[in-house]
Amino acid sequence: MHLILVDAGRTRQLGRKDFRDSLKCIKCGSCMNTCPVYRKSGGLSYHNTISGPIGAILAPNLDMKRHADLPFASTLCGSCSNVCPVKINIHDQLYKWRQVIVKEGYAANTKMLGMKTMAWTLSSPANFRKAGKTGRWFLQNIPFVVNNPFNPWYRQRDMPEGPKESFAEWFVKNENKKQ
Ligand code: SF4
Repeated sequence: MHLILVDAGRTRQLGRKDFRDSLKCIKCGSCMNTCPVYRKSGGLSYHNTISGPIGAILAPNLDMKRHADLPFASTLCGSCSNVCPVKINIHDQLYKWRQVIVKEGYAANTKMLGMKTMAWTLSSPANFRKAGKTGRWFLQNIPFVVNNPFNPWYRQRDMPEGPKESFAEWFVKNENKKQ
């Protein structure tokens, strides 16, 4: 009798304290079926054999550089952890992978820039208003800045027209009309 044991990165994942629970997965697929991202994008999306939230935890262990984007493709809503029959803290691990990937320097520069811009935008109501106003101006006057073939979203979807006013401006205007 020949007994073949395939490690396939399991020992390494076992050594990662924050991620070792992912090895309890029984591959039932519940986390993928409940995930608001994978429900829309389908099981074969995101270039990994094991798809769904659990795949996004297992894949960076095998090749962190290649799969650096996967833990970021999540809303961190926690629905996956909620349905998991073996109680894996999936969304916590996705969040932890993001921290490891940024620390190891595998996060894309565009993502880092986007996050820094968003941190500035959300740091004060004045910044939020300024960013909204600038964004609306670009969408109305030079939509090519966003709607161009270099934008992967635009290649596959109709982009919405820029709104004329922010929701806050609309609300103040309509609230005053009521009185
Ligand atoms: S719900 Fe849990 S057991 Fe099922 S595939 Fe996802 S991680 Fe694995």
